Amino acid sequence: MLACVSKYNGTCHTSHTRMTDLVAALLRYVDGSPTPYHAVRETKRLLEDAGFVELREEDRWTLKPSDRAFVVRGGTSIAAFICGQAAPHDAGFLLVGAHTDSPSLRVKPKPELLRSGYRQLSVDVYGGVLLSTWFDRDLSLAGRIVVDTDGEHGEPHLIDFERPLLRIPNLAIHLNRGVNSDGLVVNAQTHLPPILALAHSELPDFQSMLAAELERTGSGCDPERIVAWDLALYDVQRASISGYADEFIQSARLDNLASCFAAVEALANAEDPCDATRAIVLYDHEEVGSRSAQGAQSLFLRQVLERVAYASGSGAHDGFARAMARSFLISADMAHAVHPSYADKHEPSHQPVLGGGPVIKTNVNQSYATDGASAARFMQLCRSADLTPQHYVVRGDQPCGSTVGPLTAAELGLRTVDVGSPLLSMHSIREMISTADVESFQRVLDAFFD
Ligand SMILES: [Zn+2]
Repeated sequence: MLACVSKYNGTCHTSHTRMTDLVAALLRYVDGSPTPYHAVRETKRLLEDAGFVELREEDRWTLKPSDRAFVVRGGTSIAAFICGQAAPHDAGFLLVGAHTDSPSLRVKPKPELLRSGYRQLSVDVYGGVLLSTWFDRDLSLAGRIVVDTDGEHGEPHLIDFERPLLRIPNLAIHLNRGVNSDGLVVNAQTHLPPILALAHSELPDFQSMLAAELERTGSGCDPERIVAWDLALYDVQRASISGYADEFIQSARLDNLASCFAAVEALANAEDPCDATRAIVLYDHEEVGSRSAQGAQSLFLRQVLERVAYASGSGAHDGFARAMARSFLISADMAHAVHPSYADKHEPSHQPVLGGGPVIKTNVNQSYATDGASAARFMQLCRSADLTPQHYVVRGDQPCGSTVGPLTAAELGLRTVDVGSPLLSMHSIREMISTADVESFQRVLDAFFD
């Protein structure tokens, strides 16, 4: 039986599982977010339900205490905030950061491929994909298409085929005898193109296929006007609960939509009044180094916070620097749980387990931004939520992953802690976390904002 947090108690019933409202809401969020475009759409929906209004970067902003607003850049990054009762130079910002993107396969600009009697799509690898997990899956296609409107900017439309459309078949073991002992070797150029149809199928060209799908969802257009796209493949299998005691969740994109969801929930449910300005930032492009117009290496967050500070009365020449000096960032991203069959891959004294609660990630070479002071502040938050954090440090003979934490800390001079819930199968098409950790991570972020 799952433990219930007071704010989210109550259960809902599906065919096989019992889960709290919070876990059910997470599953809906992840299923509704096959791409970063859709993750931002789902995030906007949750924020609007909680009274947040959208601000546009090109407009002048006027803000007052308790105002709730959000800003989107590039369709795939979003920042949201609740203005504090005090100006930021007096009370600072309380921030949670995460990322909307996940490793995936993306469609190339000229994707149509005809090989050995099949019509296939040419795809690119986005980020550190665990490629073997994409074989023999029921794959669909989603993302954004851009329609030419005779104007400077095309008109963007979200699209989601929602049904099995593509498949990357494994090679039979009889033709690949060494695969179990030597591992699957994947050539990203030649082995990954998924099969879309038989060569002689009455399939229209790619643009016409996209136009027909738009038509189905009520916003049809002339195929010739579809000029560009940002499309990703995804697995149509929905998130689910497993384990004898319903302890586990498996789904695509839990890294890092589980953290995005926790951040949005904490901000949407944060109670007023509060002196500090509370904010979240969910960045795209973390999986490819964060260097883009809306990634963690961009000026997106700085510009949003500067404008909020200015509109909230921190307009003096040193107002923003004083606000930053009073601020704190929780950089939330998933942490490697110890794998029972590969425990030697972990540092012996730092082996987080699923269900063990939030993980503090430390790397003295600054792949994580955590230091003793920021770790202590997070431990205090955990104590206030009746939790004891776990710790993760990579083995001394292995390279360390990173997050948006060090990049944001460097850009803004923010005190930062890198944390996250434990996860197995990171960057697989189907990752695994624990239901109890969803509840406990939420409690910590709620405590941060309350
Ligand atoms: Zn991540």
